Amino acid sequence: VKDSQVVEADWTWTGAAFEPGLQVVIGADGTVERVGRLDSRPTLRLRDRALLPGMVDAHSHAFQRGLRGRGERFADAGGSFWTWRQAMYELVERLDTSAFYRLTLQAFREMRAAGITTVGEFHYLHHGPDGEDHACDELVLKAAARAGVRLVLLQSFYKSGGVGKPLAGAQRRFRTADLDSYWRQMDRLAERLKPATQRLGAVAHSLRAATPEEIAKLYAEARRRGLVFHIHVEEQRQEIADCLAAYGRPPLLLLLERLGGAEALVAVHCTQTAAADLARLLAAGGSVCVCPTTEGNLGDGLPDLQALAGREDALCLGSDSNSRISMVEEMRWLEYGQRLRQQRRGVLRDAEGQVARRLFAAATLGGAAALGVPAGRIAPGSWADLVALDVNAAALGGADPQALLDAFVFGASEEAIVATCVAGEWREHRPPRS
Ligand SMILES: [Zn+2]
Repeated sequence: VKDSQVVEADWTWTGAAFEPGLQVVIGADGTVERVGRLDSRPTLRLRDRALLPGMVDAHSHAFQRGLRGRGERFADAGGSFWTWRQAMYELVERLDTSAFYRLTLQAFREMRAAGITTVGEFHYLHHGPDGEDHACDELVLKAAARAGVRLVLLQSFYKSGGVGKPLAGAQRRFRTADLDSYWRQMDRLAERLKPATQRLGAVAHSLRAATPEEIAKLYAEARRRGLVFHIHVEEQRQEIADCLAAYGRPPLLLLLERLGGAEALVAVHCTQTAAADLARLLAAGGSVCVCPTTEGNLGDGLPDLQALAGREDALCLGSDSNSRISMVEEMRWLEYGQRLRQQRRGVLRDAEGQVARRLFAAATLGGAAALGVPAGRIAPGSWADLVALDVNAAALGGADPQALLDAFVFGASEEAIVATCVAGEWREHRPPRS
């Protein structure tokens, strides 16, 4: 049994601002017990540090870390999402289970060092090269435990290779036979989770990989079990055209009709979603996960996020393909993409006009809500998942504490993060500056 800790940094983020002199009491169970000016003797005094909640990466495919630096040269006509997907399938064909584990561990370690304390791993590469053995599923749990990141394993249902098409080639390693075998594997995995740092979420990969009937049944069972439900939606125009041809509705509208609600539904991307459909999703209790660096890398487009005005709880961020692992960069790209789209400044702002605070809420509270995890804030009842910034780091030095979050979000990156904590367990990442 661990001892409880009293942590005091020079500055602590309250959700609204950085305040000096706050003490955070972390219980032996790894949760925050109290926060305030408590007159306790700190067991950990973080000088020249600012304490923030750890960031939440709500959408990752860790093994795609293996594509970084590949496929960025375009000899002929340039590429597209679909040529990238072909390269991803070629990576899948090459990966045995040990290579899959190495890449997953590499991505998760990079996340922890980048201040990502929770990852939602949208996991669809289930099987090893030799048959339907689910060999990769438990490797994700093992890699997350070893890297020290909190994991929500978003276990993907994947049955067809396109609307009305069988699985082909590399897709066979993604295969789920039917709903019963999906939930049987979920039950097996539930027994193997580390209770303090791991949980499950349910997923239909996309309307390419499952029928509307299958998705509706999955969603109903996920709700019955109290699990969050994630799905890729409307990243590409082709997906919308295919869905219109098959079902007479664009994907998101079809889902909203068939699911009968959207509580705990996280629609990933919504790059091509009509503004009215996104508003319907939010009104029905759903939320959206945007993955700006991946959507930029793949040339997907810029989403119309006007429906998110005043809805800070309904937005989260993901590193998706992991071509870059930096929630700071995801935050910046999210806002800059909207500025470029609308040709104005300060698009994603909170009720008081603060952009960095709104973006940081998406990277913490929004992600935690999307994954169903009590995290993303430094408050009693939340996991003690924390990030310590070096206030003298080159990119932050001289920032007024009242502008420190803005300086971090708009001018810095993970080089300013010197330590992280997951469920009360600390790790240092960079040598402290003199
Ligand atoms: Zn994805």
